[in-house]
Amino acid sequence: MAYTKYKQKISTITLPTPFLVGPVNVYLIEGNEALTLVDTGPRTEEGWELLCNELLERGYTTKDIEQIILTHHHPDHVGLIDRFENAKITGHPKLKPWLEKNESFLNQTINYLMNLYKSHGMNERMIEHIYNLNMSYLQFTCKAKVDHPVRSGDEVPGLKGWKVIETPGHAQTQIMILNEEEQKAISGDHLIKHISSNAIIEAPYSGQEERSKSLLQYRESLLMLKNYPIKVSYSGHGDPIADISALVDERVQEQNLRAGHIKELMGNDALTCDQITQLLFPKVYKKQPELTFSETLGHLDLLVSTGQAETEQKAGTIFYKAY
Ligand SMILES: [Zn+2]
Repeated sequence: MAYTKYKQKISTITLPTPFLVGPVNVYLIEGNEALTLVDTGPRTEEGWELLCNELLERGYTTKDIEQIILTHHHPDHVGLIDRFENAKITGHPKLKPWLEKNESFLNQTINYLMNLYKSHGMNERMIEHIYNLNMSYLQFTCKAKVDHPVRSGDEVPGLKGWKVIETPGHAQTQIMILNEEEQKAISGDHLIKHISSNAIIEAPYSGQEERSKSLLQYRESLLMLKNYPIKVSYSGHGDPIADISALVDERVQEQNLRAGHIKELMGNDALTCDQITQLLFPKVYKKQPELTFSETLGHLDLLVSTGQAETEQKAGTIFYKAY
């Protein structure tokens, strides 16, 4: 293939984030058609300075970056894109309203989630707390547009030999890029070595009537990884992963165990997702209300989809019962 004439090099730049997840990895790909950055880190001055210095050490200024590929829309990955004035942005089509900060999309999203929390039994104070957290995350993002929307099977523009694979679950915008000849992938937060990725619940996007069942999607996207010849996968956080198949099995097994644990906690009672979240995460519930809720609701979706639990509505509130 033509691209083998390039001497492609992938290097990792690790940047600090103000989030609980810790530092984020940004990847620089040299020696292919376009000088490419995969993700940028959150919008902090500390991160920006470090990123500029790391690029300088490799002989580049930010003006030299020709394209940025975004693995997904989360603030710790997209915050600095507008500072690369010559870079074209590539990512999932669903990135568009996030990057454009489309007001009606953001309002609909937040309203949907607030109603979802309420219908699953969360109290008003906690809902307001999550609302404020979400608003505060916006300061770590910027406004930009997607130049190249890409879907599964598409060639990555500017990167010969790389193709896109959609891996929804952690985010609805999550993609992985894969170089089959070199058996390398850059997978964003789809699979992380030292922690399990949260399959975050999102509101429906335009054209969708219901929210995606993100944990069910996530499991499908995880198992799909086994179909590809990947020797090393570079993640958004932590070290590269060599044994993908074993880690996928470990993650799926952890989810099965957690679903079983939730069933035990529920006993014979009809409980709301909020009540189950507090039982499951007594210590971190207040610190990470959004993530713990997503984690619980995802596993409840799993129990319902496998016929191990059912829902019932009482006066607008949804309860779960195991069997
Ligand atoms: Zn993420």
